[in-house]
Amino acid sequence: MPDPYAPALPRPTEPKPYAPAELRALDRAHVWHPYGPMPGRKEPLVVESASGVRLRLAEPAEGQRELVDGMSSWWSAVHGYNHPVLNEAARGQLDRMSHVMFGGLTHEPAVRLAARLVEITPEPLQHVFLADSGSVSVEVAVKMCLQYWRSAGRPEKQRLLTWRGGYHGDTWQPMSVCDPEGGMHELWSGSLPRQVFADAPPDGFDAEPDPAYTTRLRELIARHAHEVAAVIVEPVVQGAGGMRFHSPGYLRVLREACDELDVLLVFDEIATGFGRTGELFAAGHAGVSPDVMCVGKALTGGYLTMAATLCTSRVAEGISRGEVPVLAHGPTFMANPLAAAIASASVDLLLGQDWAGEVARIGTGLRSGLAEAAELPGVADVRVLGAIGVVQLDHEVDMAAATRAAVREGVWLRPFRDLVYTMPPYVTGDDDVRRICRAVCAAAREG
Ligand SMILES: *Cc1c(COP(=O)(O)O)cnc(C)c1O
Repeated sequence: MPDPYAPALPRPTEPKPYAPAELRALDRAHVWHPYGPMPGRKEPLVVESASGVRLRLAEPAEGQRELVDGMSSWWSAVHGYNHPVLNEAARGQLDRMSHVMFGGLTHEPAVRLAARLVEITPEPLQHVFLADSGSVSVEVAVKMCLQYWRSAGRPEKQRLLTWRGGYHGDTWQPMSVCDPEGGMHELWSGSLPRQVFADAPPDGFDAEPDPAYTTRLRELIARHAHEVAAVIVEPVVQGAGGMRFHSPGYLRVLREACDELDVLLVFDEIATGFGRTGELFAAGHAGVSPDVMCVGKALTGGYLTMAATLCTSRVAEGISRGEVPVLAHGPTFMANPLAAAIASASVDLLLGQDWAGEVARIGTGLRSGLAEAAELPGVADVRVLGAIGVVQLDHEVDMAAATRAAVREGVWLRPFRDLVYTMPPYVTGDDDVRRICRAVCAAAREG
């Protein structure tokens, strides 16, 4: 192609960099942060760059200029930052095109990624909707399920059933299936669609499924099956709803009950996907597959926002048989080529290494490094699964004090409620895992 911008490409002058104090003042005055007030009341740390597992700060905090990231930027940066392979994928795609609309057009990055996701997820999942965030992928999953039943001549099946303690995102339908109590969306309980809630699954990945709970769960699904389109849950690990682990046995119970009672089953693997729990997808612990599945967060290795909703041929064909035989959803940035190219590279990078070995290695490090936390006053529980470590306190954490304590140890953590937790990038070395554990213990002590 001839260069369409030659010869006279106007170039804006480089903006003058902000001094950190100036940047913080503008941030406080104008920029919303997650779950934040306006104007902002807490001083966020300014990150200048990031590489490997380290965030580099614009100015020292608690004597530290670099922090080991114990959060993987909320489950996403599994390969660490500034990774040469992902940078290469981004640059290559950037030189071809960063975006083009997906209506009436397609492109190799999207097709390659979709085919790859079909290949690596449970066999019945055959069709992929590439959404622009996790919450949107959950909206799409819900729309698929409601539309499936509408097309099947059962439009009264419109509600969702879930268990308490979940988190599925911040847009409307996802909020309606988040934990209704003590969660972040309680304010909206009057205006959200009213869903059916079971008790939270009993704690413990290794615990035998509780027969009494199982019976109640089945009965609840049976009682509401006539009006419920789908059961939606996070398999094995409930993340932002409380960092709780449950037996994979409950997923088998859900699968059987849903099959028997004509209800679809949705697994939200946005946090658990891509190896975090020790299986590539957490559903693998149970050996069951859902009708619809959401992935996100680690999908692009933390580079760009993208998520995906996968469904079975039964669901897709059902929708296509209806009076409106299409899935009426199409975000502007659907299947963004830049994000898709990076996602494919990230998946290949993951599967091209012994990711299960790395996750197990980090799990072992977390188990030994967090053991001492169990002895601390104020600690209610310590648990580890895959590359996830959780210290639960018997009180609400003092976020500012806990964060400061972690930063003093040279580690970035983001505690919430009564939880100090970590899910490090899979490339975190053993010394840095130990450092993260020291920081979690310090945060638990001082928070
Ligand atoms: C983070 C998360 C979401 C929401 O994803 P966003 O990309 O933040 O919209 C949904 N479900 C689960 C389980 C999550 O962890």
